[in-house]
Amino acid sequence: MKVTEVQRAFNAEEIRNDFPSLDQTVYGKKLIYFDNGATAQKPQAVIDSISHYYSKDNSNIHRGVHYLSQVATTQYENARKTIQTYINAAHSEEVLFTKGTTDGINLIAHSFGETLKEGDEITISAMEHHSNIVPWQMLCERKKCILRVIPINEKGELVLTSIDSYITEKTKLLAVTHISNSLGTINPIEFLTKKARSVGAKILIDGAQSIQHMRVDVQEMDCDFFVFSGHKVFGPTGIGVLYGKKKVLDSLPPYQGGGDMIAKVTFEKTTYNELPHKFEAGTPHIAGGICLGVAFKYLEKLDMDAIMKYEQSLANYAQEQLLKFEGVKIIGTADQKTSVVSFVVEGIHPFDLGTLLDKQGIAVRTGHHCTQPLMDFFEIPGTIRASFAFYNTKEEIDIFIKAMDRSINMLK
Ligand SMILES: *Cc1c(COP(=O)(O)O)cnc(C)c1O
Repeated sequence: MKVTEVQRAFNAEEIRNDFPSLDQTVYGKKLIYFDNGATAQKPQAVIDSISHYYSKDNSNIHRGVHYLSQVATTQYENARKTIQTYINAAHSEEVLFTKGTTDGINLIAHSFGETLKEGDEITISAMEHHSNIVPWQMLCERKKCILRVIPINEKGELVLTSIDSYITEKTKLLAVTHISNSLGTINPIEFLTKKARSVGAKILIDGAQSIQHMRVDVQEMDCDFFVFSGHKVFGPTGIGVLYGKKKVLDSLPPYQGGGDMIAKVTFEKTTYNELPHKFEAGTPHIAGGICLGVAFKYLEKLDMDAIMKYEQSLANYAQEQLLKFEGVKIIGTADQKTSVVSFVVEGIHPFDLGTLLDKQGIAVRTGHHCTQPLMDFFEIPGTIRASFAFYNTKEEIDIFIKAMDRSINMLK
């Protein structure tokens, strides 16, 4: 289907009305927001819920007998249930609130990390975000474990031919991204989970770039952990989710100690609270959790399969148009990819092009996108990345392409 047909079927124009920040001008130009990989804009319902919470319901949760505390607790726990349903987790206590993807990965690196011993191996991939590299390097240093990296090919796909040498009897954890934030590659999660299961390794999936673009079913994926950030799924910053299988989470030691995560504290010995509280020490980001629930209520009403098709059609269209320029090279040409178009232009620094696009109202990201080893693999300092959400349109891409034409002419 042509992008215009998909667009009509999906009706992005109508959806845009829900996102007030899209309707503004910057430098006197209509804002075109193609930086969704970094963070997504928020629907009015989410914005209103933040204001409502602080205007009416603000209170600390789980501890109060009073009215407001009960209102806030109920809303916070309902948000957890909304997210449970959305990702199809078997139990609501498998949904842990975190600060975001980075926080979720660090939680596992610490807690699960405690169970590792010298010589154990952790496997990641060559396309990981720094937040799915550095916590494991730190853990490997602490515990004298070994980090293994599944290589990629020139298209930006995992090389699976020698997978058996990267996922072995020694592998205790496989931590891979569902979708690459720099390339848009969709990884074969099912295949990887099966491999990891066959050697008894646990599986962590970095879902920071997948849950806003496709249907996610954690039971179907059969992963042990799935992490994502609220701000990339149209919710607030400072809140995120770590899904973990109940049995696995129950077996792990807590991450941080403090209030709420305890059952009983004495100076001799402290016992820990049940899930999810065991992993949620201290007063959480209550407003963030509640508003993230509102973001998922919003997503619930949308057809994620249609969204995926629509966003892929946008990315394909942008890619086709970009390739008409001399010297443009697309970075990341995987067979399975979505919603991200990363590219370089021969003889032009990504930052210079990004700056000129910005002056024309177009928000793209330039640089290494927190994937420096990936940039090293492609032997480039960075890319220009246009990353789409369901509220973007073909018309916006046309304006972007015109701006590209102007900018390239100015820089050449
Ligand atoms: C954004 C991102 C992260 C980090 O998310 P934070 O919200 O910064 O914690 C991790 N992995 C991927 C793939 C990302 O896109």
